[in-house]
Amino acid sequence: MSLVNIAENLERVREEIRNACISSGRKENEVLLCAVSKFHPAEDVVEAMKSGQVLFGENRVQEACEKFSQVKAMGFTPDFHIIGNLQTNKIKKACEIASCIQSVDREDVLREAEKHLARMNRFLEVYFELHTAEDSKSGYGSEDDLLRSCENIASGLYPHIVPKGLMTMAPFTDDERLVRTSFQKTRILRDRLNREFPDLPIQVLSMGMSGDYKIAIEEGSTMVRVGTAIFGERDYSR
Ligand SMILES: *Cc1c(COP(=O)(O)O)cnc(C)c1O
Repeated sequence: MSLVNIAENLERVREEIRNACISSGRKENEVLLCAVSKFHPAEDVVEAMKSGQVLFGENRVQEACEKFSQVKAMGFTPDFHIIGNLQTNKIKKACEIASCIQSVDREDVLREAEKHLARMNRFLEVYFELHTAEDSKSGYGSEDDLLRSCENIASGLYPHIVPKGLMTMAPFTDDERLVRTSFQKTRILRDRLNREFPDLPIQVLSMGMSGDYKIAIEEGSTMVRVGTAIFGERDYSR
């Protein structure tokens, strides 16, 4: 048994989300919690589900696939989002098992996903990941490229893809201003997309992790992706 009390941690994180919503003048139920279970076993996911958590985030398709079939075998049905960068050869599997890809970072992902989704006759929600942190490589490096992807969706090029939001990772730093700037950039881009593409349902702002989710909520986040604060430290040697 792990020393981490997942039920207690979840309770605390939910409480802090509520408090951050209230103190920034937002409704308590405006912010969804995505529990990031990467590198943690199926038993931990089940533990969280027993405390009412349904949505999970995973980085790697193979790990997610194995873990969630175990979770299902234990009688639970989680919803899960891919939040890590996808190699092209993993996109088909991701389309089969995830309800959303939050980490769309290039046009290729859309093209490849559309090909498989059309064959499967299935729709998939996606968020575009915006690169806003110096110390990370992930996400669309250019807003223009991201806008072009939206344009292509708006013009009907990828009919099985439903763009629901934006995702970003702030830099890992104690400099709160840099963290805020990263979240603000993402919110400003979301608002711009809403003006330029009023027919696209881009609403979600997936921003905030264990170290910065309170700031993210103050900056308008509608979904926080929290791993360590719920499941404890990750053991990368597993
Ligand atoms: C790992 C990860 C998280 C969770 O990070 P914590 O600091 O453990 O809360 C959130 N988002 C993404 C994209 C991640 O890769």
